[in-house]
Amino acid sequence: MAVREFAERGADLQLVGIQKRFPGFTAIEELDLTIPAGSFFALLGPSGCGKTTTLRLVAGLEEPTRGRILIGGTDVTATKAHERPVNTVFQSYALFPHMTIIENVAFGLKRRRISDAVGRAHEALKLVELDHLAQRRPQQLSGGQQQRVALARAIVNRPALLLLDEPLGALDLKLRRQMQLELKSIQEEVGLTFLHVTHDQEEAMTMADTVAVMNQGAIEQMGAPEELYDLPRTVFVANFLGQSNLFTGPVAGTTAEAISIDVAGTPVRIPTARARRHQGTVTVGVRPEKVALHETEPAAASDRNVLGPGRVIDVSFSGVSTQYLVDVPGAGTLLVFAQNIGHGPAAAVGAEAWVSWHVEHGFGLADDAS
Ligand code: ATP
Repeated sequence: MAVREFAERGADLQLVGIQKRFPGFTAIEELDLTIPAGSFFALLGPSGCGKTTTLRLVAGLEEPTRGRILIGGTDVTATKAHERPVNTVFQSYALFPHMTIIENVAFGLKRRRISDAVGRAHEALKLVELDHLAQRRPQQLSGGQQQRVALARAIVNRPALLLLDEPLGALDLKLRRQMQLELKSIQEEVGLTFLHVTHDQEEAMTMADTVAVMNQGAIEQMGAPEELYDLPRTVFVANFLGQSNLFTGPVAGTTAEAISIDVAGTPVRIPTARARRHQGTVTVGVRPEKVALHETEPAAASDRNVLGPGRVIDVSFSGVSTQYLVDVPGAGTLLVFAQNIGHGPAAAVGAEAWVSWHVEHGFGLADDAS
């Protein structure tokens, strides 16, 4: 297929001991990161955590205070931005309004006097499925189409590494979801290395094969999306990547299978293999969709945690599922997501309720929520 010929493999990226200080502010204290060639890597974190600064360092738009940047094994720390094998797609598409789409995509190649610039630009437009609009001007395209042109314009240069800085931020929700899937399949097809910066956890989890969660200039945890979601390491990751019910208490017992913490007199257990700390005060958690709601006290079972009785303080129906907030004295307010397989909510506000979850579904954190 033409697209395959057009594409080149991406390169790996290594950040070694990177520090970035601005006058009076340290944006990145110490960053070590390796992104394998051909992977779709997301840097995820809240506003101000240092994502864009990291991207700008890789692009060569900022100089690190300390540390080295290697692309495909070559040290590019001192290499000028335009000489790095890197292209960036920003949130603003910055297409030239007076040029047609094909002229926009071919522009960089023509300037570098690369032969068959127009042919290659058409290949890139085919890849983003916009070749039939090649003769239009940017203002005659929708936001999502313009974003795809910006992507084609970046890919046509065959960068070893493509940097994406919140590229879908300006699109409405539905288009963003669609573009997430498209971007991922384009990345799989061309095999370039994508480094994508976003504050949207769902976006990072949908698209990336590896996610690094960044907080205050440092990476808190890195791994496959399922891994981070299933076994978050810190309170920050547990709360930033989805929602969590967290409990903090002293360790009350440890066996080879489970550790148990004391939550207001009730034991809450997690598998020992999923604990990160085994003594002192420990925080453990469980995802809301793993928690079941009961209107009567469930029978005690050795493989389930049961808390209650509590009271339902809020019910919000959202079609496919219902969210309950259940106030359990001593344990706090729990969030429960229940699939709607019957005819609407199972419990009303004010009802007495118990919550339970399988011990296997709990996770232990390395730090404390309290
Ligand atoms: P956002 O999602 O809001 O873009 P971000 O995670 O990309 O946030 P950065 O833009 O990397 O964050 O900024 C990280 C920190 O460094 C912020 O606190 C920011 O104020 C600070 N910072 C960035 N650029 C400079 C600069 N030129 N001078 C001083 N401080 C800066």
